[in-house]
Amino acid sequence: MEKQTTESKSSILRLLPSIDDLLGTEAARALLPEIGRKRFISLARNAADSVRREIQNGSVQNSGSSTTFSRESLLTETAARLGNAWLIERNSRLRRVINATGVIIHTNLGRAPLSKSAIKAIVEEASSYCTLEYDVETGTRGKRGARAENLLAELTGAESALIVNNCAAAAFLVLTVFASGREVIVSRGELVEIGGDFRIPDVLTQSGAILKEIGTTNRTKLSDYEKAISDNSGMILRVHPSNYKIVGFTETPNLTDLAELARQKGLLLYEDAGSGAMLDLNRFGLTDEPVITDSIAAGADIVSFSGDKLLGGTQAGLIVGREESVEKIRKHPMYRVLRVDKLTYAALEGTLDEYSRGTALTKIPVLKMLSVSKAELDERTRQFAQKLTDSSRVNSDLEFAVIDASSVVGGGSAPAVQPDTVNLALSHAKLSPVKLEQMLRNSEPPVIARILEDKVLIDLRTISENEEGELLDILRQLK
Ligand SMILES: *Cc1c(COP(=O)(O)O)cnc(C)c1O
Repeated sequence: MEKQTTESKSSILRLLPSIDDLLGTEAARALLPEIGRKRFISLARNAADSVRREIQNGSVQNSGSSTTFSRESLLTETAARLGNAWLIERNSRLRRVINATGVIIHTNLGRAPLSKSAIKAIVEEASSYCTLEYDVETGTRGKRGARAENLLAELTGAESALIVNNCAAAAFLVLTVFASGREVIVSRGELVEIGGDFRIPDVLTQSGAILKEIGTTNRTKLSDYEKAISDNSGMILRVHPSNYKIVGFTETPNLTDLAELARQKGLLLYEDAGSGAMLDLNRFGLTDEPVITDSIAAGADIVSFSGDKLLGGTQAGLIVGREESVEKIRKHPMYRVLRVDKLTYAALEGTLDEYSRGTALTKIPVLKMLSVSKAELDERTRQFAQKLTDSSRVNSDLEFAVIDASSVVGGGSAPAVQPDTVNLALSHAKLSPVKLEQMLRNSEPPVIARILEDKVLIDLRTISENEEGELLDILRQLK
């Protein structure tokens, strides 16, 4: 680029387009209905400002080959920047993605995808006026979330249930209601951090409870609990250390014995189960996940768990337990702060209906993905690879192979479980794995894949059959 004198700079600056000039271009006019006038003006100003700054410091790049600036070339350049800024903004919206990572409960990708029945309940029932707090039978005010709560109580064998914003809220609420100003007895092995910002000791402090830690990181005995009980004890807390596992020389009392101790001493036993399986998932390798029915049967007074982990529904904190305790929580002012909206109740009702019907394993996506066998995945992946071969152009630079790999449960559940899977391993004659992964991420919809040993891996376990066609189209376009 030629060096510009001050005088030539100011003469170029005079050629910069105005907002009206930009609005006059066909490309910009086409965007206007989607962007809206006010937002358009703001983006147009930013685009013109960036060009102006670059002219002033002599670094502007003309998008054409010419090095001389004209009114027209600056208009084209500014309009291009405006279009690009809008594209980036549009792409930053909440978007559907194809999860090719094999991580079933992917927290960054929104944890559990919803079942058809949950989606139907949201779209067809709750998104309109609905019976959130209305009893059509009597024409009077009804109880909020009653059916979802009744289903939850029935499915877990608990006397009563209550639904709040998430499991962190549930833990905070339970501790606030029952242990504020009192000691909460918890094993050192369970003082865990779940995700970046949920730490059991911090939630305890925040709720006004006093942490009474007992035992050691790897071993805590029933007698440790017994010795810690005093007049100031509020409850015994059992936390499922969801995202990590202590192996080797370990010991922790079972829930039945803890419940018996709590009963004898007149204390509440509260279990924060975290993921909380509604079904026994032993046969899929999830041997350490607490099954909520078992926790209730063992005598826990209150159990809390997430709605969007292994349950396979939407974000929510589910509290089940003794009626007296649950009603006490419901009457606390903090419940009003942490309650959920109609969309959440609808999603949970739709999800829980599948459990009631006995169809959870086939109809709830996370359970379906968890229970699919390696043989089925092998078959599906080979068929997919065959379709890709059939439709790829001759001399395509995209290479792929079907390989053995392992999936991840995710969402802070079952850290030691890595279900066997079969992946499509991609490489490209002209693109690095990093570039290939980036191109997939920038496709429509974005395909989120992982890189292992210089291959980009596609795990069909976390991709629904409906998405396969889209994925095939995207891969074909990589040429
Ligand atoms: C995941 C988890 C939480 C937090 O649940 P959210 O629904 O994400 O708030 C709390 N406790 C345990 C043990 C967990 O595993």
